[in-house]
Amino acid sequence: MALSEPTYDVIVLGAGAAGMMCAFEAGRRLQRVLLLDNGEKPGRKILISGGGRCNFTNTGARAENFLSSNPHYAKSALARYTPADFIMLVKKHGIKFHEKTLGQLFCDDSARLIVAMLERECAEAGVTTRCGVSVSAVRRNAAGFSVETNASSLDAASVVIATGGLSIPKLGATGIGYEIARSSGHKVVDPRAALVPLLFSPADREQWCDLTGLSAEVVATAVEKTKGTKREGKNTQPTFREKLLITHRGVSGPAVLQVSSYWRPGQAVGFDLAPGKEVLATMYERNARRDSGALLALLRGLFPSRFAERWVSAQLAGGEDWSNSGLAQLEAALHAWTFYPAGTEGFAKAEVTAGGVDTNELNAKTMESRRVPGLYFIGEVVDVTGWLGGYNFQWAWASAVAAADALVSK
Ligand SMILES: Cc1cc2nc3c(=O)[nH]c(=O)nc-3n(C[C@H](O)[C@H](O)[C@H](O)COP(=O)(O)OP(=O)(O)OC[C@H]3O[C@@H](n4cnc5c(N)ncnc54)[C@H](O)[C@@H]3O)c2cc1C
Repeated sequence: MALSEPTYDVIVLGAGAAGMMCAFEAGRRLQRVLLLDNGEKPGRKILISGGGRCNFTNTGARAENFLSSNPHYAKSALARYTPADFIMLVKKHGIKFHEKTLGQLFCDDSARLIVAMLERECAEAGVTTRCGVSVSAVRRNAAGFSVETNASSLDAASVVIATGGLSIPKLGATGIGYEIARSSGHKVVDPRAALVPLLFSPADREQWCDLTGLSAEVVATAVEKTKGTKREGKNTQPTFREKLLITHRGVSGPAVLQVSSYWRPGQAVGFDLAPGKEVLATMYERNARRDSGALLALLRGLFPSRFAERWVSAQLAGGEDWSNSGLAQLEAALHAWTFYPAGTEGFAKAEVTAGGVDTNELNAKTMESRRVPGLYFIGEVVDVTGWLGGYNFQWAWASAVAAADALVSK
């Protein structure tokens, strides 16, 4: 292979959402685009996304819906390639979709249609796709870059890293994107499991886990407070009004997945179990009963009986106080059910990886490295992590198009 004449204009590493999108957008105008993936087929995570129906975007996606050390980083790309742009692509391919809730768009039929759409676009743009190729390193050379794989070494003028994060290793996730970033001098914000179920401590498990399967609508938040400390000032973490689900190991459901991205070991999570309601109001009325039976009756109107019973006995375990201030404390406890998770279910169960290539090392308009010209990072490998609800795919599409635009205008 002649070093002075690169074989490819660009090699895109990872044929997931971001990689496929970037490959065909670049391939429409560049001659030689190669897309590599270690799996048997492209788009494996898309196939399992959104319960098999792929929540492919969120119509309300804005930078505020993402976690990053630099909250402004995603703004430019998200503004230039919007949910409406992706919806146009989906419509062009005749894929039917619906809005489930909160701007979340899902395929009516199957996530397979999104993968097929991306594959067709890649084929039409003349992209060469090679699956079953595992990338081990990227090095600078006279051609620009050499990409080392289990099969061979390939040369390219530019390289786009779209290898995703560490979540779901059995679907091909590796840390190669972070390794390439670090070995070429980039900082990486410590990757951590996000959008992931939380685990109870042994004591909490004892108390709650036989209620597995119970769910309730709550307002959830991560609490910036560690055990034994007093929280200073107001909690600034976002709140999420969604479902909480008790599992045999801890808590899950959309409300928990959302706060898990903000939670850090040692901190608490809090749930308002009765958002917007003054549950015990009637107990203040003249002649109203003030006892555990009356409390239970009110809570049974809100939650499944078993949960109501367990909650009441947990609250009254330390003694009963039916004075006005005792009632106020019970009401407050209902709106701030707080516990300290022992951990998360980890990368095996996490929908995404938070952290990643430090955005200070990248150009927000082009996704190009500031340290290594010609090297780009897009999608989940970057320190930009979306909320649950189609935001992560919107980031994958938008960051991919930003890089492709930069590649073709070089
Ligand atoms: C169960 C589940 C459901 C989800 N549902 C949704 C949803 O409905 N909506 C939403 O917005 N987001 C959802 N997500 C998140 C979303 O799937 C990801 O954020 C998104 O796929 C990231 O795209 P990406 O292209 O950056 O990375 P990925 O899709 O992870 O693609 C990276 C690719 O690189 C390949 N790769 C890794 N290492 C190597 C290597 N060494 N050599 C070669 N190839 C390599 C991987 O095999 C993979 O194919 C879900 C995630 C999971 C796990």
